[in-house]
Amino acid sequence: MNVANQLYQLQEVDLALESNEQALSRIASQLGESQVVVGAQTELTLEHQRLEELRRQQHSTEWDIDDLSNKISAAEQKLYSGRIGNPKELANLQHEVETLKAGRSQLEDKALAIMEQVELATLAVASKSSELKTLEAEWRNQQQQLSTEIEQLKTILSELNHKRQLLLAKIDPQAVEFYNGLKKQKGTAVAKVEQGICCGCRISLPTTELQRARSDSLVRCSSCGRILFLA
Ligand SMILES: [Zn+2]
Repeated sequence: MNVANQLYQLQEVDLALESNEQALSRIASQLGESQVVVGAQTELTLEHQRLEELRRQQHSTEWDIDDLSNKISAAEQKLYSGRIGNPKELANLQHEVETLKAGRSQLEDKALAIMEQVELATLAVASKSSELKTLEAEWRNQQQQLSTEIEQLKTILSELNHKRQLLLAKIDPQAVEFYNGLKKQKGTAVAKVEQGICCGCRISLPTTELQRARSDSLVRCSSCGRILFLA
């Protein structure tokens, strides 16, 4: 294998290392908390708070109704006890009972309306809660999958690094140094030649250049400066 071929193999390994390293960092960045799950948790918490507030209102209204019922009973007992003879006092008491009953009726309507809201909020909590469970399960699966992919990529990277070491051991160190310098400068150091064209710059190469590139020495493209590799 001539040195251009060896450097081309090295470049193939380097490019594979680069793209796998990019994939690894891209996947690693997806590990961790999910904004969608956090959003669903917040929504569920708010819905819970709303339900608790409604239940508090419901109980408070029920107590108020009980309180009025007790007052109505006491007033009616007094009204029908026969102990009050004064017609004006009786009329006042009658009026008080009616006012209390009207108030209670209003509160009962309010309690009914709150009860309906409690039912709706209970349904909302249940639906948000199951939505969150689904999202969390999806997130756990995704994290699991990402971890598997990360492990696979790490294996690939370690194999590539091993392959790179083996290649480096075979290539003339000066050629490697030259390759590294060109790579830094141009991104890729070696250009394949296909049908007389340099794949690095798409320029047609002179015959003399092609002939030289067939030999063992390192020949650079006169146009882009990359090392020419004839497959
Ligand atoms: Zn070129």
